Amino acid sequence: MSASPAEVVRRLRDGFGSGRTKPLAWRREQLRALRALLTERETELATALQADLGKGPVESHASELGFVVNEVDHALRHLERWTRPERAWVPRSLVPARARTVWEPLGVVLVISPWNYPVMLALAPVVGALAAGNCVVLKPSELAPATSAALARLLPRYLDDAAFTVVEGGVEETTALLEQRFDHIFYTGNGHVGRIIMRAAAEHVTPVTLELGGKSPAIVESGVDLAATARRLAWGKFFNAGQSCTAPDYVLAVGDGTADELERHLADAIRAMYGDDPSRSPDYGRIVNERHFDRLTALLEGGRVVAGGEHDRAKRYIAPTVLGDVEPDAPVMAEEIFGPILPVLRVPDLDAALAFINERDKPLALYAFTADPATKRRVLAETSSGAVGFGLPNAHLTVPELPFGGVGESGMGAYHGRRSFETFSHAKAVLDKPLSPDTMRVVYPPFTALKERL
Ligand code: NAD
Repeated sequence: MSASPAEVVRRLRDGFGSGRTKPLAWRREQLRALRALLTERETELATALQADLGKGPVESHASELGFVVNEVDHALRHLERWTRPERAWVPRSLVPARARTVWEPLGVVLVISPWNYPVMLALAPVVGALAAGNCVVLKPSELAPATSAALARLLPRYLDDAAFTVVEGGVEETTALLEQRFDHIFYTGNGHVGRIIMRAAAEHVTPVTLELGGKSPAIVESGVDLAATARRLAWGKFFNAGQSCTAPDYVLAVGDGTADELERHLADAIRAMYGDDPSRSPDYGRIVNERHFDRLTALLEGGRVVAGGEHDRAKRYIAPTVLGDVEPDAPVMAEEIFGPILPVLRVPDLDAALAFINERDKPLALYAFTADPATKRRVLAETSSGAVGFGLPNAHLTVPELPFGGVGESGMGAYHGRRSFETFSHAKAVLDKPLSPDTMRVVYPPFTALKERL
């Protein structure tokens, strides 16, 4: 019989209490072990990703395993510097004294991950948690069952059993886990469950990171190379069959004629990337399950089909699809699409595009394709989003020293690179003042010196 959530957490608390996770040598060893797993078991993990999401080996390598290997390497390279105490300036009234910030691990942390990048979104936070010297409970998504099983089978063979555990399961198992007290909960997924996580965390005053989603817009202005723009958009949207949290959700085509020309180029870009029949492309993924397939095919009604539109439930296949003439109140504009459907909306000018975005929830990412530096300045100054990408979707998350996270409805907190380390650490303030000379005499009651100065 498997251990209860209480037993799992107790075991890891004992592990943390033993102090084993604190030395840098242990952290490096765990990170190297994680790296070894990702390289030695690439085939097993890629097979699981193929089974769950029809991911081809190139996508799996680039956006799942390779991504985590890069995070590991970055952490190994910088760990020494990240963990170094930071000196702080001491005000004159306290001199002589020394002040510094020291980074301490939080303890036992819980990582709850989703199905769309089921290796990357499970293990990238784990890199930060281990680098910061924590014990980790990882709860992978039950909606990517082959990957969840592979992680549960393989990770214990590589990582320190006293400090790391995988708990598989769905709502019931996660609910039981959330009753335990953790020192941090790192959740990636939708905002509805994000609220459940936050409520459970509040019981124990546990801090949370919520990596959520939403509709990430792409503004396209006339005057840019629309063929190149279409290629960038098609790549960012149809990677992983549109099931990426940062994928451009919809396009706001600004000005007369921009939409018509962009739509033509999008159709060409799709053909160039996936062929005349994308269902036969080894590089095009599948929808995770029937529920999401049905949800997505219902959204196809929302506009004129410019490209794609074909679908096959038995194969969970939906062609890369572009919808034109989409109205703002169409169902496809009501929720995050999270699939291979790209609506193109027409707006008369940049003012209208910015107003459209600002009337809605703050997105995880906002993209703009423009040749005008003034547009870039306005986008940055007049909108709020987790990230902004000019000329390229998604790729900001591959820059390790950029914080990756949302704002407002798209989440709270951030990670990647140093931010992951900080997310899973407590920044402890330390003030160290010698007892002699006792310069504090002036502030002791009856405040004689201070009163004289008043
Ligand atoms: P999901 O269904 O796999 O759920 C995520 C996790 O929540 C799973 O581990 C699941 O077991 C758990 N869960 C589900 N219901 C729960 C409940 N009632 N109580 C406790 N735990 C529960 O994934 P999803 O939510 O469909 O993921 C898609 C969403 O995630 C999209 O909105 C997407 O934009 C967002 N997302 C965000 C990021 C990011 O980094 N910001 C990355 C990927 C996905």
